[in-house]
Amino acid sequence: MNLFDIHTHSTSNKFAIFNLEIDFPVESISYFSTGLHPWNLEVNWQEHLPKLQALAKDERCMAIGEAGFDRIWGPDNYVQKEAFSAQAKLALETGIPLILHLVKAHDMLLEYFKNEEKTPTIICHGFNLKPHLAEQLLQFPVCFSFGKALKQEGSNAAAWLKKCPADRYFFETDDSDLSIDSIFNAASVILDRPVEELSNQVISNWNRISKRKIYE
Ligand SMILES: [Zn+2]
Repeated sequence: MNLFDIHTHSTSNKFAIFNLEIDFPVESISYFSTGLHPWNLEVNWQEHLPKLQALAKDERCMAIGEAGFDRIWGPDNYVQKEAFSAQAKLALETGIPLILHLVKAHDMLLEYFKNEEKTPTIICHGFNLKPHLAEQLLQFPVCFSFGKALKQEGSNAAAWLKKCPADRYFFETDDSDLSIDSIFNAASVILDRPVEELSNQVISNWNRISKRKIYE
């Protein structure tokens, strides 16, 4: 069984969304996401938008991102907000979700939702925040992607996965060297649902939130 990995920095699994750096050659990639990460935002970030818009037209571009907010590493808030809004708009217009990077900036995400009438589906990736913060987001088009934190007993991620509506979750390896199978296995134990069921759930979740469908 091929298990879908929604966010990875490795090219080894083909049934996965590879996090593409904007200047990486795309030829050998099956699915990818690409965006302007807050860590890499420069004052002239707008200059990279045409490249991003061109990549978004590629049918293999499954999501915009990582994009988001980071209060530890990243430029001034207003630069982050502008760059995020532009990328969210691109995701919305393309009909694909946005993969979110969020560090100590939960309020900035809430502010974005409150100010925008129409938003793309936003996937909080590497989710490991307190469940009550996740609950606040359920009123918005938000999904959650769970990774290595599921393997730590008593993690926030494990606590939220138990409560998270089944139509809102995904799984990922991110930059870890874990296999996607081991993440699904951990989720299967936490949720007491067979891996095969989780696999079908994730595929149907994806195909509900995105115009660009995935097939096993
Ligand atoms: Zn990542």
